[in-house]
Amino acid sequence: MPTSCSFPCQRSWISYHPSSINLRSHRFVVASSAAAGMELSLTRPDDWHLHLREGELLHAVASHSARQFGRAIVMPNLKPPITTTEAAVAYRQSILKALPEGSVFDPLMTLYLTDNTSPEEIKLARQSGVVFAVKLYPAGATTNSQDGVTDIFGKCIPVLEEMAKHNMPLLVHGEVTDPSVDIFDREKVFIETILEPLLKKLPHLKIVMEHITTMEAVKFIESCSEGSVAATVTPQHLILNRNSLFQGGLQPHNYCLPVLKREIHREAIVSAVTSGSNRYFLGTDSAPHERRRKECTCGCAGIYNAPVALSLYAKVFEQAGSLDKLEAFTSFNGPDFYGLPRNTSKIKLRKSSWKVPVSYPYEHGEIVPMFAGETLEWLPSNN
Ligand SMILES: [Zn+2]
Repeated sequence: MPTSCSFPCQRSWISYHPSSINLRSHRFVVASSAAAGMELSLTRPDDWHLHLREGELLHAVASHSARQFGRAIVMPNLKPPITTTEAAVAYRQSILKALPEGSVFDPLMTLYLTDNTSPEEIKLARQSGVVFAVKLYPAGATTNSQDGVTDIFGKCIPVLEEMAKHNMPLLVHGEVTDPSVDIFDREKVFIETILEPLLKKLPHLKIVMEHITTMEAVKFIESCSEGSVAATVTPQHLILNRNSLFQGGLQPHNYCLPVLKREIHREAIVSAVTSGSNRYFLGTDSAPHERRRKECTCGCAGIYNAPVALSLYAKVFEQAGSLDKLEAFTSFNGPDFYGLPRNTSKIKLRKSSWKVPVSYPYEHGEIVPMFAGETLEWLPSNN
């Protein structure tokens, strides 16, 4: 990593216009509106797409999510991946052990779909009471996805039929992996060649298109029947466009998959999410890597955003004049789609400046968060 680069340099924030906030429109969530000290009270949010990793990394990050979120859909792309209910149950135990004393954070587990996943495994998953979804990674699409699906139509239809029977959602990393397809077009091509035909074949399968990044994904989600297909949206795809990858030099901490897209796509996603539609919900895709694995000759994909996600989502909704719609996105649409109860406890978001730590050290490394060293507004707190 060249040291001459002012790193991390993430100046491509969306512009911020406090004057555009319509206070009347979100009166019901405003607990206190004394100008700078404005406070929002929200039903505790859930994170419907989270990477907690394992070992030391798990212990380093678990408390950041557990402090703010009630539940999280935990991604199964470990080494080796979580392909069985038995492994998911064991992974859940190790997450619970990594939580701070007294935490009531509930990890909702997922299975990693492979060419060999059996319909019987889906039955076991449903019976377990701790597995809530199955994740489709096209083979090679992202971190630890080499064991993913190579031929969904040829190998996975019986297992997907079983999932539809049990109302178990398929969570989709929606990118083709064909190297001849431009990396910025992989989501669009995936929708055309996999998702649309899959829905025609299995109209009753519940699908979450994870971390959408394009206007084509928004169009697709809007075209599907409500309650059967939904999408998670990350803070980075709402706040940054692809210029952020190259601003003042290569920015490895802004590199994630699906990769950041053009500004027109960011704008389409912001409009969709802040419209109040119940088809979109919070999914951070927070994906920690040890600093050395990001700042090297072949840096890993993934942005660590768990500590800053709520501040950033609030900023996006505030700027759109839609703070009254923030709570549905963070706390209602997700559990409603999954058929789970909404949380009953509350958190507060206080409009006061706070500085993001430059890194989170742990015994053998450190993790650099999104917007490291920057000042954010909207500080989450539990009381
Ligand atoms: Zn992910």
